[in-house]
Amino acid sequence: QEKDYQFMLRTRNPGGLVPPQLYLTLDRLADEYGNQTLRVTTRQGFQMHGILKKNLKSAIAAIIKSMGSTLGACGDVNRNVMAPPAPYKNRPEYNYAWEYADNIAALLTPQTGAYYEIWLDGEKSISAEESPEIVAARQRNGNGTIVHGTEEPIYGQHYMPRKFKISVTVPGDNSIDLYSQDVSLVVITNDQGELEGFNIYAGGGLGRTHNKEDTFPRLADEIGYVDKEDVYDLVKAIVATQRDYGNRFDRRHSRMKYLLEDWGVDKFRATVEEYLGKAIKPFKPLPQWKYEDFLGWNEQGDGKLFLGISIDNGRIKDEGTFKLRTALREIVQQFNLPIRLTAHQNLLIYEIEPTLQPKIQQILENCGVQVDINVIDPLVRLSMACPALPTCGLAVTESERAIPGILDRIRALLNKLGMDQEQFVIRMTGCPNGCARPYMAELGFVGSQAETYQIWLGGSANQTRLAKAYVDKMHINDLESLLEPILVFCKQSRQAGESFGDFCDRVGFDAIREFSATYEPA
Ligand code: SF4
Repeated sequence: QEKDYQFMLRTRNPGGLVPPQLYLTLDRLADEYGNQTLRVTTRQGFQMHGILKKNLKSAIAAIIKSMGSTLGACGDVNRNVMAPPAPYKNRPEYNYAWEYADNIAALLTPQTGAYYEIWLDGEKSISAEESPEIVAARQRNGNGTIVHGTEEPIYGQHYMPRKFKISVTVPGDNSIDLYSQDVSLVVITNDQGELEGFNIYAGGGLGRTHNKEDTFPRLADEIGYVDKEDVYDLVKAIVATQRDYGNRFDRRHSRMKYLLEDWGVDKFRATVEEYLGKAIKPFKPLPQWKYEDFLGWNEQGDGKLFLGISIDNGRIKDEGTFKLRTALREIVQQFNLPIRLTAHQNLLIYEIEPTLQPKIQQILENCGVQVDINVIDPLVRLSMACPALPTCGLAVTESERAIPGILDRIRALLNKLGMDQEQFVIRMTGCPNGCARPYMAELGFVGSQAETYQIWLGGSANQTRLAKAYVDKMHINDLESLLEPILVFCKQSRQAGESFGDFCDRVGFDAIREFSATYEPA
């Protein structure tokens, strides 16, 4: 008899959109086939853990029939396309970001019919009389014309050398970690708010391997600008460049960031221009990037409200008196509201009539869910952790289960040092793959062996600068002794308004090590 193999299932949600019907289906599947929890990923999708092989078909079919999909959420293809989750109806650039995230997701959806053959309805999906359900699902997912045979029109015969990540954002809004993506597009509008084109970044990516210096996190470069008419051809040209020139012999070097690193921006741009058949224009000036999380109650600009809920490490669950899963189910069931997942493992409920606010607030209070952003510890609000043990096969140590205790310890240390108001971005992963993007954090923990982490310092609060590895192996018991001198040094020597990450970057590791070596705890 076959073993009870378990799977992780990940949904595809361009721009983080989860329609109410899909949310309720996923909530039900978490009970029927999963581990009674849902987990918001750092790419604005959901993951469900613990699905038995024999239940996969029922689970995926239910998702497809509820306006969802898992197609392209894993594998060597374009992954979930990210976009700022904020539903600002009076800021047209946000609407363009959603629209183009959807369209690019559709453009790069694998065209094979095998997905529907396997998961939905067997052979009917390739026959002339396929069900309206399948036709609708295919159109929604962007593969309205199914390709028979082995060749994909954009991906070719062998798909991509490696996973491929795209985001679309608006000037100033770095809620989607744009520097960490293979491609990021920035909506450029004119004074009337009409779409003109897109700035292009390319070559970001964070995954690396311990003790392999030729693997490294990398920030995306500014490539240039294209008019809106050319944007889909531009995306196809970049995909073709990576498809044809990306390294297919060594998976550790197959992300597009290594192509950018080896070639430099000029050669990369020239190659993309050859596929595009025209020149890429100069990059347009942009304002400073800002980290946004959109939590709490907000106006969406058309008289309605949206509510951003902070979710510790993205885990939607019921535990004791904390009943977030129940609260969300009741809200979506009663008021039929859509959800947008954020890139920081939180979620926004939107299209809320102001008259519903007290009712929704009451449900949350009854379920022990805090949405007052003045009460949530900013360290918790800004932090992220990947799932790691026990669900991720690549994990070498704890992450999601460890971070609450670690944040408590850092908060206690800050209080002891008279730094009660301090806040900075802390991210943790159970291996160097970096799913929770620790290399962009002001303080990053990257699992290196059991209970031991590599410590990264010096990222910026708005995620525009890479951190650097400060210590290769820190046992978690040594957290306070490592951090205390750095925090005291920061408290004594920081410039006005300087964040912890900016301080570490400015003074450098030599100065931090020198201070730490002579530091005597009070
Ligand atoms: Fe798993 Fe590593 Fe990703 Fe964490 S960072 S989820 S341990 S692959």
